[in-house]
Amino acid sequence: MNLGVEDLYPTITDSDPELSEILGLEMQRQSGTLQLIASENFTSKAVLEATGSILTNKYAEGYPSKRYYGGNIYIDRVEDLARNRLKALFGAEHANVQPHAGANANAAAYLALLKPGATVLAMRLDQGGHLTHGSPVNFSGQYYRFVSYGVSAADGDSGERIDLEQMEEAARTHRPSLIVVGATAYPRIIDVEPVRAIADSIGATVLFDAAHVAGLIAGGVYPNPLGSSEGGANKGADVMTFTTHKTLRGPRGGAIVCTSQFAQAIDKAVFPGLQGGPLEHAIAAKAVAFQEASLPQFQTYQQNVVLNAKVLASALEQEGFRIVSGGTDTHLILVDLTRFDPNLSGKEAQEALDLAGITCNRNQIPYDTRSPFITSGLRFGTPAMTTTGMGADEMKLVATLIGRSLRHRDDEKYLQSIREEVGILCSKFPPPPFA
Ligand SMILES: *Cc1c(COP(=O)(O)O)cnc(C)c1O
Repeated sequence: MNLGVEDLYPTITDSDPELSEILGLEMQRQSGTLQLIASENFTSKAVLEATGSILTNKYAEGYPSKRYYGGNIYIDRVEDLARNRLKALFGAEHANVQPHAGANANAAAYLALLKPGATVLAMRLDQGGHLTHGSPVNFSGQYYRFVSYGVSAADGDSGERIDLEQMEEAARTHRPSLIVVGATAYPRIIDVEPVRAIADSIGATVLFDAAHVAGLIAGGVYPNPLGSSEGGANKGADVMTFTTHKTLRGPRGGAIVCTSQFAQAIDKAVFPGLQGGPLEHAIAAKAVAFQEASLPQFQTYQQNVVLNAKVLASALEQEGFRIVSGGTDTHLILVDLTRFDPNLSGKEAQEALDLAGITCNRNQIPYDTRSPFITSGLRFGTPAMTTTGMGADEMKLVATLIGRSLRHRDDEKYLQSIREEVGILCSKFPPPPFA
């Protein structure tokens, strides 16, 4: 069954026809075109319900049993539920579920771990790092001194991996107080152990930014990088930040887990350091998502996410595209367009695919010669389409639709005909809660 806007938003339909129309159109876009943006997903109806709940009415500055406002007995239970479920999910000694987004979680981690002007070592932004990893237009690049490591050169199926020698050399030269790992466009698993060893050799702490891969970790298809302060030396990250809306399939938001050593500093950094009142409706939705992520079917889902990404990567290779690092271990694929057609930029490809009903984003590839606005690459991800139930056959079909669209990118009529094929495919896999 495909729900209409009046089924999902009956009151808005009644009271606000203007917004209702826009919601209806966005529903059509989400359910009628292919969602291949690696950082997007479809939440469950339960997550939507919690996000739209009356918990949005309550002020609750502070933490459970330490609030600045009255009337928080039930709110405390909501937040405790979310924190306890999160700790269980990642085997964490401490959890903070209040960050409004991934960027806020990172800001809180920096505020907790660093003095203003401190040196931080993170991944190059043009090779997969995030804006909050020291971009000059982001607060991180303005308030801290970021230095970077990158990936090795392209070399068949073994290149374009995080270059640990480069990381170690930068660590020795710049003596950062923090090393950040985790990325926004890196398709391979990052092993935190050698990073920990480098950090220990210079007395630095380790932050793992799991914004993209938190769901993969929860689903058991990506090693849990979070360390422990119990039983000898910590072999993992001190702090792990993440978003709850990417692979984790929860509401839009962020969260932090850490060892007990950093618990107090993290809590103080989130509130009162950075934020005011927490979004308890979002925290309730996070609790729902953490519960869903602890179920066996979530492990199956994440296995399928990675399987679909591997199938899509090799099918795209057969269409003539070069896959950065020769493949993927995760939900994410980075495509180098220059072998397919040296004249085709990421920007032009993204725009043509948009006309064909295939939604993705342009992305720089390692050692890109084009600017971040133009780029030579595309980034694809399988979390959203896997949530709709698509499998290997559909991934192979999607790869051919991408190849055909880009070969005929100047023919609008042709792209329209692809869009119709896309519509037929999507109608067989309605995402929740449209199903
Ligand atoms: C998405 C992302 C973030 C930021 O998350 P927002 O919720 O968009 O603020 C931070 N770090 C990485 C690596 C990301 O991919």
